[in-house]
Amino acid sequence: MMANNISINLEKVREKIHSAACKAGRDPSDILLLAVTKSVGINEVRLASALGLQDFGENRLQEALPKVESFPRLRWHFIGHLQSNKAKHALKKFCLIHSLDRFSLARELQRYGEKLELNAEVLIQVNVAGERSKFGLEPGELPDFLLSMEDMNRIKVKGLMTMAPWVENPEEARSVFVRLRELRRDNARPGLTLPHLSMGMTNDYTVAIEEGATIVRLGSALFASQS
Ligand SMILES: *Cc1c(COP(=O)(O)O)cnc(C)c1O
Repeated sequence: MMANNISINLEKVREKIHSAACKAGRDPSDILLLAVTKSVGINEVRLASALGLQDFGENRLQEALPKVESFPRLRWHFIGHLQSNKAKHALKKFCLIHSLDRFSLARELQRYGEKLELNAEVLIQVNVAGERSKFGLEPGELPDFLLSMEDMNRIKVKGLMTMAPWVENPEEARSVFVRLRELRRDNARPGLTLPHLSMGMTNDYTVAIEEGATIVRLGSALFASQS
């Protein structure tokens, strides 16, 4: 796609982030714009990074690797379902894994973390809406899961992530974002502040920001040719 399309899209996105933050009385600079490049190639990554974006998200390891290797200085986030046998690669290549959703994956990350002397920075994915098609812990599983992470010294839990159901009117997703914020409040404690809420995609990110998102994950808002 053309460079100026991304540039125009990005400008619109930044304006919307800014106004949603202001509406909620938040500082816009507290919100990280994560560019999701799963549907685009190396050229778009180059264009977006030239426009000042530094954080990029991918949801499939195999498709991510060529991009990650072409731009090792960018900050790469893993946002998709991660198979345990790919934990090692993910640990080495990604600065934040948004999708820790089960104990067995945590155990693998811990194991490779020990071996490679690397910490795994993670968000815990919560299936707030209880959709069968989505991954993530049930909200009620969160306290025990967080407790079990205390024994894993290579796992650094930085917050929570969710995907809201797709709805025509993003207002209908608001309750999901409110719930994730409440789950952070109810599960944070000294030494575990859960600073990040990764929530909000192209269809619903302004609502997510109003409810406290610190990371919004945007693909089509940046890279689709219409808009
Ligand atoms: C694809 C994807 C996104 C971005 O979706 P858009 O609707 O294109 O913004 C965000 N988060 C996850 C987990 C994704 O898989």
